[in-house]
Amino acid sequence: MAADIDGSALARAATLLADARHAVVLAGAGMSKESGIPTFRGDGGLWTVRGEPPLNQYETFSMDPRRWWERRLEQERHADEFAVAIEAAEPNPGHVALAQLEALGAVAHVISQNIDNLHRRAGQRALTEIHGNRMWMRCVSCETRWPRAEFPVDPEALPPRCAQPGCGGIVKGDTVMFGEPIPPSALHQCALETAQADLFLSVGTSAVVYPAAQYPISAAQRGVPLIEINPEPTPLTPLAAVVLRGASGAILPALVEAVRDARARGGETSHS
Ligand code: NAD
Repeated sequence: MAADIDGSALARAATLLADARHAVVLAGAGMSKESGIPTFRGDGGLWTVRGEPPLNQYETFSMDPRRWWERRLEQERHADEFAVAIEAAEPNPGHVALAQLEALGAVAHVISQNIDNLHRRAGQRALTEIHGNRMWMRCVSCETRWPRAEFPVDPEALPPRCAQPGCGGIVKGDTVMFGEPIPPSALHQCALETAQADLFLSVGTSAVVYPAAQYPISAAQRGVPLIEINPEPTPLTPLAAVVLRGASGAILPALVEAVRDARARGGETSHS
């Protein structure tokens, strides 16, 4: 275990996870910082440094989808720092450990605000990407999604249209824009998981973007214990039963080992 991890908090978190029947995780951009993708907020975050971007992106898209697509194709030719970082990123030990917690049966579902595809690449299966996935496209009408690589966009026929029979809706990147309604199917899944949760973890999120931040709050309000993993305090900190300060890439692998230990101890006790 890394020397700067609070051992007693880690042991309490591991016991909660080992005992939980339906642990749900809210994950955020901090989880991918160790993969080289900058966060928006927090120390060194893109917005902390540069200020907030315009928050009316979806309105701009809806008013003129063709113009929006022309700009997007242009941006793809001159990708910015954020896009380049996402394209180059690999899952880090935090993503891998979270997938291991699922494989161990300690985590039932991950609600991620990340759009970078790294949870999937690390092997996470029970996953709702509430803000979409940058590697996919989506029809705004029928919600059909396609891998970006399988949906060639013809620059002479913008905006691209859905090919589902009887649809023909406008297709955009799957990432949910500022001001865009979150697809109802994702909201439904998140509500379902939250209602079943008997333990919640908040990992690498500033917990200020709604509705995502509401899920751990709703669970905590009905008495579900909350574990926070983040180097900095957040609005969720006062609600947390256990706080682990530090990088998810260090804490989550230590948590996997601690859960294995807690299970082994529990097994010994139940046989004695
Ligand atoms: P955020 O940028 O608002 O906050 C990041 C949080 O991560 C902060 O609380 C920070 O203290 C914490 N953090 C920093 N380094 C960490 C580390 N090594 N381990 C654990 N935590 C660490 O991010 P958010 O709360 O996810 O919300 C912002 C929105 O940003 C979401 O909608 C998301 O789609 C978008 N976003 C996504 C990515 C991505 O996909 N990787 C990156 C940036 C922003």
